[in-house]
Amino acid sequence: MNTTDLRHVVQKAVETAKIVDVHTHLYPPCCDKLLLRGIDDLLTYHYLTVETLRYGEIGPEKFFALPKNLQADIIWDVLFERRSPVSESCRGILTTLNSYGLDPTSESLGSIRTFFAELSLDEHVDLVLEKSGVKSLVMTNNPFDEEEEPHWGPGFIKDERFRTALRIDDMLNSPQAALKKLEQRGYNVASDTGGLDYPAMKKFLSDCADRIKPVYLAASLPPDFDWSEGSAGYGILRDVVLSYCEESGLPIALMIGVKKLINPVMGLGGDGVGFSPVEAVAKLCLENPHVKFLVTMLARENQHELAVTARKFPNLMVFGCWWFLNNPSLVEEITRMRMELLGLSFIPQHSDARVLDQLIYKWKHSKGIIADVLFDKYEDLARTGWQVSAEDIARDVEMLFSGNAKEQIGIK
Ligand SMILES: [Zn+2]
Repeated sequence: MNTTDLRHVVQKAVETAKIVDVHTHLYPPCCDKLLLRGIDDLLTYHYLTVETLRYGEIGPEKFFALPKNLQADIIWDVLFERRSPVSESCRGILTTLNSYGLDPTSESLGSIRTFFAELSLDEHVDLVLEKSGVKSLVMTNNPFDEEEEPHWGPGFIKDERFRTALRIDDMLNSPQAALKKLEQRGYNVASDTGGLDYPAMKKFLSDCADRIKPVYLAASLPPDFDWSEGSAGYGILRDVVLSYCEESGLPIALMIGVKKLINPVMGLGGDGVGFSPVEAVAKLCLENPHVKFLVTMLARENQHELAVTARKFPNLMVFGCWWFLNNPSLVEEITRMRMELLGLSFIPQHSDARVLDQLIYKWKHSKGIIADVLFDKYEDLARTGWQVSAEDIARDVEMLFSGNAKEQIGIK
């Protein structure tokens, strides 16, 4: 295959690849209002609110007191009309609108709103999944979320495009409040000796799993997450969560590195990032060889050590470039480095989408970069005399966009 053909074959294979998106914050259509979608949700997502507030034209208190549509008007005015929208979050909005055939340079925000208002919920979901190439996605399902949990019935897991993941952050990061809620639900989690009744807590996990059939358990952990006797959440993580994972065969996904609310007035946009000791991940993998760990870290500075650690542990699957890492320059650097260290044994991206339409731009932008990296690697191979066929390329691409994920989370 000559260079032009190679580029064409790689681009085509990546463009048409079906995706298993291993981590999102989306919901199936049956959850109705819980699923964020459309232009106002896109514009008022915290990526863009903080960028708008940086210009200081309106204070956060005044801004957040406004209704959503007025917040969206301000964001549109500040970021798109009076400046060029060069940030990745702004470009994402434009890529998304463009894929719907909307031209924001000639259409008003009003006519863009009309386009979305005319889509039914089911039509909207079908359209986005088709445009983004996402075949199935994994949600984030928190048993302590009072808005979401009441939806947990048979209808909740009927749509197989939307898979569940049991989010157990509250048990690890704010155990006191979580334990109180467990007691209220009839789980006697305080033992007679004054400690915690781990079997009762495990029963709670298994009851939750019976209800929603999760493909993995998940937790977001702070940068200072540690795994050693006496560290925060150690007993619950070892004797409840990991013990349950080992018994059930379910993997655990750990998302490490969010520094919560470094500026609380920014609301959901107030979180920062912190460097984490990767030794904790290595120790977890070493001491729990029968548990599968899916790990993603938020700090750029953690990426190399995490990839090196994954080389040593077949039970460690590295995935995605999220939030502050989901920028083209960083996605490229990280994907290239991971491929050089791990071959094809990683999950290059997940969307982390919280607004349905974000799936479109997040995957379009990531696919472009992953295709470039793959092409470069095949070209390097060609220089050694190793030729890849179109079938080889199709096989590799399938692994990266769905095969590795399906194998990890046990779906077809
Ligand atoms: Zn997330």
